[in-house]
Amino acid sequence: MAVLSASGRRFETEVPVLIIGAGACGLCAALAAHGQGADVLVVERDPTPSGSTALSSGLIPAAGTKLQRRHGVEDTPAQLAEEILAKAKYQTDAAMVLTIAKASARTVDWIMDDLGVKLELLTSFLYPGHQRHRMHGPPNRTGAELEGGLLAAVERRGLDLVPGATAVDLYVEDDERVRGIAIQRPDGRREDIGCAALVLACSGFGGNADMVREYIPAIKEAMYFGHVGNKGDAVRWGLALGAAVADMASYQGHGAVAHPHGIPMWDTITVGGYQVNLRGERFSNEESGYSEQALEVLRQPDHVVWNIYDERGHAIGSESIEYRRGVELGAVRRAESVSDLARVTGLPSAALAATIAEVEAMAAGTKSDRFGRDFTLKPALKPPYYAVKVTGAVFHTQGGLVVDERARVRRRDGRPLPNLFAGGGAARGLSGPADWGYFSGSGLMMATNLGRLAGEAAAALAGRSGR
Ligand SMILES: Cc1cc2nc3c(=O)[nH]c(=O)nc-3n(C[C@H](O)[C@H](O)[C@H](O)COP(=O)(O)OP(=O)(O)OC[C@H]3O[C@@H](n4cnc5c(N)ncnc54)[C@H](O)[C@@H]3O)c2cc1C
Repeated sequence: MAVLSASGRRFETEVPVLIIGAGACGLCAALAAHGQGADVLVVERDPTPSGSTALSSGLIPAAGTKLQRRHGVEDTPAQLAEEILAKAKYQTDAAMVLTIAKASARTVDWIMDDLGVKLELLTSFLYPGHQRHRMHGPPNRTGAELEGGLLAAVERRGLDLVPGATAVDLYVEDDERVRGIAIQRPDGRREDIGCAALVLACSGFGGNADMVREYIPAIKEAMYFGHVGNKGDAVRWGLALGAAVADMASYQGHGAVAHPHGIPMWDTITVGGYQVNLRGERFSNEESGYSEQALEVLRQPDHVVWNIYDERGHAIGSESIEYRRGVELGAVRRAESVSDLARVTGLPSAALAATIAEVEAMAAGTKSDRFGRDFTLKPALKPPYYAVKVTGAVFHTQGGLVVDERARVRRRDGRPLPNLFAGGGAARGLSGPADWGYFSGSGLMMATNLGRLAGEAAAALAGRSGR
């Protein structure tokens, strides 16, 4: 991974807009640039594009979409921006938050109407920090459907996507203009590709243990659940070019990954559910957010805890094909009573019964929670109970390249680099400096919105190709 001099270099293959990475960000960038009349080329290291996008639940928050209007949901970019800022304790870039919030409805409508990707509005529950129903997701709630839908749109338009091509070096002029890249094929062959504009859509550094150790030592032992091919290349090239990076210690964790099945199970506890450790005791305010819950869970005995919920959580979970897979695999246990719940989980029955009774008292308003959660907002759980054993994990890093409202990568002095763009996990997220700032859905929001904005701006810069 290096930044090399482009001086005197001739490129046999040249393309106006070149994009590294074929996750949601890269595909949105390609489709948006093409929509503006530019020829594009996407290079992707994997033989079959998937990225963290395909591992995700595919849920994209947006405010003011056609789907929201159809469901009578009143929402505005200002409302969305305020909620994102509040989650990040106002320690993030407010201008960027507003840019993304304002772009969000157009992006989701474009993905649905122009690109033909099927999305639905989730109306059954609210994610932590969200005050409106605004999560837009594929019918089975899988990122694989989203990735597949975007790839199908790329194919229908005949865009060039080269899989099995790892971008290894950038060629840069003395004036900091990127002239092209070198890719490496699986057999070691190198090829150079020239470009007028380059979009870095190769995500964060969760798949690079050295970078995680350097920037986020607190999670160096945690299981990484994102795409292993995300090695931090965008940040490394950016730093070599004098680009600004920010919030490098920030990440999205997840405090409810079914263990050992590896299936995210947060939704189950959004309707009155909670978590208990192997001693049968609660240990935190589960409603703070699923990202910061990762470390809370990893601090518990054996690094595992149980999600306890009832028929409501089970019904919400069942909207996701992944949850249904968890049921088939035996991850989800059902119990008819408290003693049965102790039996199916192996939790100490007296302690578990005491915890359940205590939560019932808190839901009735006769006791307050020492962790600060307000249980009166939802009815108490009632039998049959459900339980799933979960652990904490890291989903994706949130620190990255600082970009402006057109997704142009900024230098450390604030000025944009001439023709370099970045989005998704490659760019600084909206979460502020740590794990507690992640607003649910921020990941795909940064991938789809910045991807579209980067593609449009790169196409404008590169000029029409005469397609
Ligand atoms: C389990 C899980 C669940 C999640 N659920 C959600 C959710 O519901 N909503 C949400 O908003 N976010 C969610 N996220 C986060 C979300 O998936 C990411 O933020 C988002 O997918 C990032 O998109 P991206 O295009 O930037 O990166 P990716 O989708 O990871 O794509 C990056 C691509 O770049 C390729 N690449 C990397 N380096 C190179 C190189 N040098 N050359 C060529 N190619 C390269 C990679 O192979 C990869 O295909 C979840 C994440 C995980 C792990």
